[in-house]
Amino acid sequence: MKENIWTTYNESQLAELNEINEKYKECLNAGKTERECVELSIRMAEAAGYRRISDVAAAGDKLKAGDKIYAVNMNKMLVLFRIGEEPISGGMNILGAHIDSPRIDVKQNPLYENEGLAYLDTHYYGGIKKYQWVAQPLSLHGVIVKKDGTVQKVSIGEDENDPVFVITDLLVHLAHEQMEKKASKVIEGEKLDLLIGNRPIEAVAGDGEEKEAIKANVLRLLKEKYDMEEADFTSAELEIVPAGKARDCGLDRSMILSYGQDDRVCAFTSLFAMLDVAEAKRTGCCLLVDKEEIGSVGATGMHSKFFENVVAELIALTEGESELKVRRALAKSRMLSSDVSAAYDPMYAEAFEKRSSAFFTNGLTFNKFTGSRGKSGSNDANAEYIAAIRRTMDDAGVAYQFAELGRVDLGGGGTIAYIMANYGMEVIDSGVAVLNMHAPYEVSSKADVYEAVKGYRAFLKMC
Ligand code: MN
Ligand code: MN
Repeated sequence: MKENIWTTYNESQLAELNEINEKYKECLNAGKTERECVELSIRMAEAAGYRRISDVAAAGDKLKAGDKIYAVNMNKMLVLFRIGEEPISGGMNILGAHIDSPRIDVKQNPLYENEGLAYLDTHYYGGIKKYQWVAQPLSLHGVIVKKDGTVQKVSIGEDENDPVFVITDLLVHLAHEQMEKKASKVIEGEKLDLLIGNRPIEAVAGDGEEKEAIKANVLRLLKEKYDMEEADFTSAELEIVPAGKARDCGLDRSMILSYGQDDRVCAFTSLFAMLDVAEAKRTGCCLLVDKEEIGSVGATGMHSKFFENVVAELIALTEGESELKVRRALAKSRMLSSDVSAAYDPMYAEAFEKRSSAFFTNGLTFNKFTGSRGKSGSNDANAEYIAAIRRTMDDAGVAYQFAELGRVDLGGGGTIAYIMANYGMEVIDSGVAVLNMHAPYEVSSKADVYEAVKGYRAFLKMC
C-alpha cells in the first residue's frame, strides 16, 4: 500500500473534497435507478448551460467551440458533449460510466396473495448475493406507463414518513436445514418476493367477504395513488432497492456507505468533472449508459448504436454531414471507461493478489485489462496510451494506482471498455475502488472520490 493521500491535502483541498462528497451523496440519494440518474443529470447539465441536441438541430443552429449539448436515449442513457476548439473529427476525450446498478426487479404479473400476505413477485437484475437482500428495509422506484401513454413515476420508501418493504428470511430457530445449504442456495431467486401488505379491503355492506381481500386492498391503494389497474403492471418498470440514504462511514467520516456506488461513483464524478471543465482543446464527452450489469445489451446498453448516431448528428451540426468524419471522430477518440474496482479487503485477503490490488486512499484506479481466465473478454489498453495517461495525471497532481480485479483465475468481470474499443479508439478501464461491490450497501473512500473528479477533469483537458 502506498501513501495515504489524506495526509497530503491542505485546507482548501480538504474543503473541496468535502464539497464534492456532499454533492456526491445527494446525487446517490436522488438517483437510485438509471431513469432517476438520467433525470437528475439532465437537470444538472441544463443548469450548467447544456442544451438538447434535437433543440439545437431544430433551431438550425451551428455548434461552435464552447457549446454544450446533450442527447437522451429512452430516459435511461445520456451523453453530454462540450465542443472543443479542434474539429470533432480529430477525436474526443470521452468519460464513460454506467448508471444501472444491481437490484431486484418486479415481474410483469407480480401481485399475489398467499395466506393473508400480499407480495410482488420479482426477478433480480445483475449479479447479486441473494442472501444479502433479505430482512432489510427496501424501497420501490420506477414508472408505471398506462395504455394511453401516461407515465406515473413511483418512489416509495425514501421519505422517512413513507412505508418500506421487506423480503423475509427464515427465522434462525427453524433454519437448521437452510444453514446447511451453500450460500448460492440459502435464498433462491423465487424466494425474493417483496412483502407489501397484510390488511384486507373493507367489505362494502351486503357484499359479503371479498376473496383475496389483501390483494384487493393493495390494488385499491394503487388505484388511489397512481390511478392504475392490475394489468398496468405489465407496462411498468419497478425496481426494488435498499431504502435509505448515503451515509458517512467511519468515526472519522472518511468513507461513504451507500447503495448503487457501482457504478454511480464513477458516473457522478465523471459528470461533475464534465460540468466543471470550462475550456479544452478537444471535444469532451460524458457518456452514462444503462444495462452494463447484464452485458450492455439492448437499446440503452453500450452495444446499441445510440452513441454512434449522436456523434453523426454532432458532426453534421459542426463539420457537415460526413460518414468518414464520424468514423474518424470515433477512431481518434480516447476514453476512460470507468467502472468500480474491487478495493483490497484485508478480511478477504486470500481473494486478492496484493501487488495488483486497488487500495482505498490510493486514488483513481486504472486497469490495463479486465476479463477473466487469461484476460478473456477484456479490453487491453495500449502501453503508449497508458504512458500518455500517466503523464496527464502526474502533471495535474492526481493520485492514481494500477490494479486488476482480484487473484488470477478466481473470477473476473467485464465493462463497456471493449465495446468502445471496437471503434479503434484508445480505451482504458479506470474508476474508483469500492468495498462490498454489488452488496446492498457499498463502501467508497472520500479521498478516492475526490481524486476521481480531479483525474477526470485532467483527462478532459488532455491534448
Ligand atoms: Mn460496474
Ligand atoms: Mn457491477
